[in-house]
Amino acid sequence: TRTPVNVTVTGAAGQIGYALLFRIASGQLLGADVPVRLRLLEIPQAVKAAEGTAMELDDCAFPLLSGIDITDDAKTAFDGVNVALLVGARPRAKGMERGDLLEANGGIFKPQGEAINAGAADDVRVLVVGNPANTNALIAQRHAPDVPAERFTAMTRLDHNRALSQLAKKLGVSVTEIKKMTIWGNHSATQYPDLFRAEVNGRVAAEAVDDQQWLENDFIPTVAKRGAAIIEARGASSAASAANAAIDHVYDWVNGTAEGDWVSMAVPSDGSYGVPEGLISSFPVTVKDGRYSIVQGLELDDFSRGRIDASVAELVEERDAVQALGLI
Ligand code: NDP
Repeated sequence: TRTPVNVTVTGAAGQIGYALLFRIASGQLLGADVPVRLRLLEIPQAVKAAEGTAMELDDCAFPLLSGIDITDDAKTAFDGVNVALLVGARPRAKGMERGDLLEANGGIFKPQGEAINAGAADDVRVLVVGNPANTNALIAQRHAPDVPAERFTAMTRLDHNRALSQLAKKLGVSVTEIKKMTIWGNHSATQYPDLFRAEVNGRVAAEAVDDQQWLENDFIPTVAKRGAAIIEARGASSAASAANAAIDHVYDWVNGTAEGDWVSMAVPSDGSYGVPEGLISSFPVTVKDGRYSIVQGLELDDFSRGRIDASVAELVEERDAVQALGLI
């Protein structure tokens, strides 16, 4: 029997946590033959709710679930961690200034970065879901100097999946007929879902659509503002789809991407496509043998270049703001 993989989930008692934990325990995060041990991190007032979720996990009798630990201490939560899913974050409250939001999240992601640095397993992989995800990932990464920087990633897979679905609907095709979708930049309203490099049955997606008006004024804003539309319709923010995207992100990072395709991940830039080195920005990536690489050599048209630059400029601003606050 294989040794269980330690998977830590923060904000485990939240909405996304509730949609995520059962799928991890059933084998969908890592593979149907990989046992997992769950570590749930919560703030003290939410520990009891996390215990309730753990009782339900017990009641599923998942064959792959070898144990559950619940704690409000980051050091304990990340000791020996192989996969860290940082979901818990401080959401923007009404009237909250951006500086306050970044500061509140600095108070969460700095100690978590330190705890990962202190105790994580050598092969640790970190996915930040909690917003502002890219910059929260940057804060955690900067406080984990002994962990290779490339192990810190942020989630743009939900945007990626949303873009696949919107395009499939527009063209009346199945999502399986679409390859090479890319989300560039920040997981925010400035993100750029790119149809000029995506392919539909081998044809450039933007050409298959042949409607720049739709692309600019419908597709891009629909993908970028989908979260708000879901809150409007459901009365609560997207949770199951966010959890699904986290599963997809980690599964592909561990198990690899399909030949002839790629996925979107926000990863520390190596300077590719003019994105300043170190910024955690979304790129097209392929994964082989558990390591991702940014797809190289794509030619960018002026429209795409402008959109990418605008989103990257926002990431630079966020980085400068957390730097000014002394958080990195
Ligand atoms: P959710 O589980 O709904 O969301 C958690 C985080 O994920 C939020 O920051 C949210 O950002 C973000 N997120 C990213 N993508 C999406 C998406 N597509 N849709 C919705 N959210 C997205 O929040 P809850 O309030 O239900 O739960 C948060 C939990 O985290 C609470 O139980 C709280 O106690 C816990 N927490 C734990 C901490 C810790 O372990 N140290 C620290 C802080 C909180 P946004 O809201 O901006 O969309």
